[in-house]
Amino acid sequence: NLYNMVQDLKGNIRVYCRIRPLFRVEAKSCIDFVGEDGSLVVADPLKPQKDGRRVFEFNRVFGPSATQEDVFADTRPLIRSVMDGYNVCIFAYGQTGSGKTHTMCGPSGGANDQLGINYLAINDLFHLSVERKNIMKYDIHVQMVEIYNEQVRDLLTEDSSVSKYPFLILNLALPDASMHRVRSTSDVINLMKFGETNRAVGSTAINNRSSRSHSVLTIHVNAEDVSGNRLRSCLHLVDLAGSERVDKSEVTGEGLKEAQYINKSLSSLGDVIMALAQKNSHIPYRNSKLTLLLQNALGGHAKTLMIAHVSPESDSFGETVSTLKFAQRVS
Ligand code: ADP
Ligand code: MG
Repeated sequence: NLYNMVQDLKGNIRVYCRIRPLFRVEAKSCIDFVGEDGSLVVADPLKPQKDGRRVFEFNRVFGPSATQEDVFADTRPLIRSVMDGYNVCIFAYGQTGSGKTHTMCGPSGGANDQLGINYLAINDLFHLSVERKNIMKYDIHVQMVEIYNEQVRDLLTEDSSVSKYPFLILNLALPDASMHRVRSTSDVINLMKFGETNRAVGSTAINNRSSRSHSVLTIHVNAEDVSGNRLRSCLHLVDLAGSERVDKSEVTGEGLKEAQYINKSLSSLGDVIMALAQKNSHIPYRNSKLTLLLQNALGGHAKTLMIAHVSPESDSFGETVSTLKFAQRVS
């Protein structure tokens, strides 16, 4: 198919940027320009002259008025790839409050008219499996884990204790996490909701736990065609921990540990994607749980989409630039 041909020419890594709307209409934006071609210009509010302006380029940029459907329209071909046997990872990257969860799950209030990529992707998977039911029989299973301080925890089990995570990954399954057979989009939605409540239960004194951990929703697709050929692939939908730099003077104890773990896993993810883009012979998967966990879906017969999220408020300028730099580095 044409999309896959074009993808193969471009490499299998794509990077998008999404700018969320300003929270207050009267606030000043540090985003100066959004181009149709995937470029954007940010401007330092303190240096409005030329030297405070920086240009970045991505495969796509979605401005503040882009809808969930706009973003999904450019993500959809990846879902088809999953059904064709590719492993796919979709990452939401960005500082806390930049819209990662909005893109993946939908708005915080849970409005049904703005469902996120997770829902739209799964819905598409089921539609495609029905469409192809005369030639292929699809079996779909789901796992959901969170990685907090380099520990992997199953979010879909009643027992919310931290699971031990073996270093050897033999196949695409997350070894210790429970696997759930799903037959419809609503099955998955119910599991996602259950996972979210489990995530909240595990939180410690630090109440913003969800922004300090990575959540990984994995959809496993097994298929068999009429002549018995088997196909196996997976889709990882990853809502990453907030990428913000923590003010060093303020952080001690638990907060410092969290920040170091997040920093390490996000930079390891960046290193892995960059090494893959450069087709290096050594890919440093082993430097973090996140990359180790996703190893089989980050190289080989795999496609990766990173959606870098930025907040447009001018006081977010520093974080916005650092997010855009990270995303540019891997693109
Ligand atoms: P993050 O997960 O990166 O911390 P959220 O997704 O929770 O950020 O977004 C922060 C707030 O901004 C939420 O209330 C969310 O609903 C809102 N928001 C984020 N992106 C958008 C958007 N594109 N359109 C409208 N509201 C958004
Ligand atoms: Mg979030």
